[in-house]
Amino acid sequence: MRPAKRIDRLPPYLFAEMDRKIAEARAKGVDVISFGIGDPDLPTPRHVVEALCGAAKDPATHRYPSYTGMPDFREAIAEWYQSRFGVVLDPDTQIQPLVGTKEGIFHLPVAFVDPGDVALIPDPGYPVYETGTILAGGEPVSMPLLAANGFTPDFSAISDDVAGRAKVMWLNYPSNPTAACVDESFFARAVRYCRDHDILLCHDAAYTEITFDDYVAPSALQVDGAMDCTIEFGSLSKTYNMTGWRIGWVAGAPQAIEAMKRLKTNIDSGIFDAVQRAGIAALNGPQDDLLATIERYRHRRDLLCDALKSMDVVVEPPRGSIYVWTPVPKSHTSESFSTELLEKAGVVAIPGNGYGAAGEGFVRFSLTLADERLEEGVDRLRTVFADA
Ligand SMILES: *Cc1c(COP(=O)(O)O)cnc(C)c1O
Repeated sequence: MRPAKRIDRLPPYLFAEMDRKIAEARAKGVDVISFGIGDPDLPTPRHVVEALCGAAKDPATHRYPSYTGMPDFREAIAEWYQSRFGVVLDPDTQIQPLVGTKEGIFHLPVAFVDPGDVALIPDPGYPVYETGTILAGGEPVSMPLLAANGFTPDFSAISDDVAGRAKVMWLNYPSNPTAACVDESFFARAVRYCRDHDILLCHDAAYTEITFDDYVAPSALQVDGAMDCTIEFGSLSKTYNMTGWRIGWVAGAPQAIEAMKRLKTNIDSGIFDAVQRAGIAALNGPQDDLLATIERYRHRRDLLCDALKSMDVVVEPPRGSIYVWTPVPKSHTSESFSTELLEKAGVVAIPGNGYGAAGEGFVRFSLTLADERLEEGVDRLRTVFADA
């Protein structure tokens, strides 16, 4: 058997590699505390689960779903955008549901990137922007996100040649893995740059609803002129603890949505209607579970950041996302420090270079573990930071 060359070009998925190391440690009897993968530990809100159960009993949901998603689900997304961001979207031409946001992020380059075309990728960033580009035959070009620039890209550092060949640019704020947040003026600059260079701006908005301390995350679509050149990927996964459900959407520039629709008709057959009805319940229903989720993450963020500060680690408590992005001690690389954490303390944090070369010198802690485990994990960190 001879798998295709493109399989060899793919890096092993970062979390798969992490899972393997954790399994190894556990097999040796280590009680591993994982600040690794960003997968919410809290349950999906009860009314959402009940909406699914009710819908699953209705035979009308048992057949192939529509390729373009249930009209009521697209309508619910449009209403949510209007009330949350003041952005008006036509549910028929500007919204396409996805089988989870990752699915759409992966497929977008198939619709927009030809061999030889460039995709501008945040570095460090969510790995799928790069792998999707590679499998489409495109050339990922990294935009380094430096602490000095608040982990935002310096558009003026992009060469004319690269800008001329670029078809898409990926952004993600609040950011995974850096937890950086931006204001609307940043998106205004990004939209202007992409319009000037005829680039499709793709904003991954997975964490806009998980924010703290009065910070409200903007949508890239709320910027003047965005609707001509911008799409935004929305997810229910982190907002409503629905990572297992596989439902999300892409919204914005009609031409791009049209291309995604055309592509996806040939790939998947839509999202289980019962899951879409649950999605409607999540967007339209009571939001107290979301507020409680945010409060829980805020508490954990403070626990971890206060502890890190007391260990003389320079860390700014993030205003959004479910991560804390932490510089490693000077004597270490990202990789050597996370290995040390696992071997000396049974603690998992993801090495920053796994998200791109510019992530070197950092590790990412995820806040998706129970409070007691987080507290114990923090205690164990002390010994490692003290020795480093
Ligand atoms: C979790 C995550 C996603 C994936 O969301 P799904 O809707 O579960 O596929 C997308 N982008 C980023 C940056 C994420 O962290």
